[in-house]
Amino acid sequence: MSNSGQKGTNFDQWLDSYAARANALSVSEVRALFAVVSRPEVVSLAGGMPYVHALPKDLIARSFETLMADRGDLAIQYSGGQGDLKLRDQVRELMALEGIKSSVEDIVMTTGSQHGLDLVSGLFLDKGDVVLAEGPSYVGAIGIFRHYEAHIEHVETDHDGIQPEALKETIARLKTQGRKIKFLYLVPNFANPSGVTLAEKRRAKIVEICRRNKILILEDNPYGLLYFDKKVPDALRSIDENVIYLGSFSKILAPGFRVGYVLAPPAIREKLVLAQESAILCPSMFSQSMISEYLSNSDWQGQIDTFRGVYRERRDAALEALAEHLPKLSTTHPDGGFYLWITLPDGIDSKAMLPLAVKELVAYTPGTAFYGDGTGHNKLRVCYSFPTPENIKVGIKRLATVINLQTELLETFSKKGATK
Ligand code: PMP
Repeated sequence: MSNSGQKGTNFDQWLDSYAARANALSVSEVRALFAVVSRPEVVSLAGGMPYVHALPKDLIARSFETLMADRGDLAIQYSGGQGDLKLRDQVRELMALEGIKSSVEDIVMTTGSQHGLDLVSGLFLDKGDVVLAEGPSYVGAIGIFRHYEAHIEHVETDHDGIQPEALKETIARLKTQGRKIKFLYLVPNFANPSGVTLAEKRRAKIVEICRRNKILILEDNPYGLLYFDKKVPDALRSIDENVIYLGSFSKILAPGFRVGYVLAPPAIREKLVLAQESAILCPSMFSQSMISEYLSNSDWQGQIDTFRGVYRERRDAALEALAEHLPKLSTTHPDGGFYLWITLPDGIDSKAMLPLAVKELVAYTPGTAFYGDGTGHNKLRVCYSFPTPENIKVGIKRLATVINLQTELLETFSKKGATK
């Protein structure tokens, strides 16, 4: 065994022993930021944290009291690998809000939708397989696909989401190269990180292209119910029952419960349950029962309305501050969710700029975190879900100071270059 390995921050005598796939594990750019941005003086527009403060804690306390009184023993016991039947039935009603018809038999409860993503990826991805994804795409999904040593191919995306023509061309090109495409991963509503929603007119087209090419769709939808004005178009799963749909309670309730769900065609669902049992035996019955109790005995739709109001006000604060301090910059205008996406002038590297921003006491997530192919240098994600509207305005003003300085420097250097 060699003792030469110094990868990472700690000396590691086991470097020769790890599985090849462990090499793909790296600190996510988002997580790497947490230590810095948790300093109170820094306005963090970085991590995608729900504003759980808007959730009355007495609602949770009441659910706990009732749960312990009514079925406490069951709630703290092992349970089935597929998840609690009552909660699965409630999830069915939740998904019906987005046009999905489903059976409790086809729903698998998971430890957050992150775990659902991991289970599905584990079932389908071999080394070198291709995953198609929007460009940019969710950093946590990219991490999982990398872990399974898949190749991530981004498909061109605009203000209406993934482009059907670009999807067709990408599939044709990859097929000519003999590549194995396993699935298309999509966040169709208020995407993380872009805030963009897949237009209704594109949805059936995307489903049809994938159906014709026998490519599974993995529809990841944690934000769909957090629309600001207009309800989102029906889910892709409502168009085709072969779509695998991932949902979560993290954003419409709280992420601390770690409860998500997967709706999958029967054959895939059977394998998902087996994979889940082999990985964790069963999802937390305690968390599931708490959520089930909360859904049964509280005005959860009213609570989602409250969240919508909170996030709408924060989105407005972010857009107003951007219009005031960075009027020339290109940004997305999300109609729901947590994020907006900024394109900086060519030549500004958002990752290199981050230490300067932190010095100005503001943080964001650099664009490269959201691409599997090393691009995205002049992009950045702003998450407006957690800071107060006042702090968002302060944060964007600080960000503008840094971006404007970088832009001036860039212009000065390019003028000098031109006169040489
Ligand atoms: N998918 C997307 C698009 C997300 O933004 C997140 C969390 N940020 C997840 C999945 C995972 O969420 P959870 O595991 O908390 O359900």
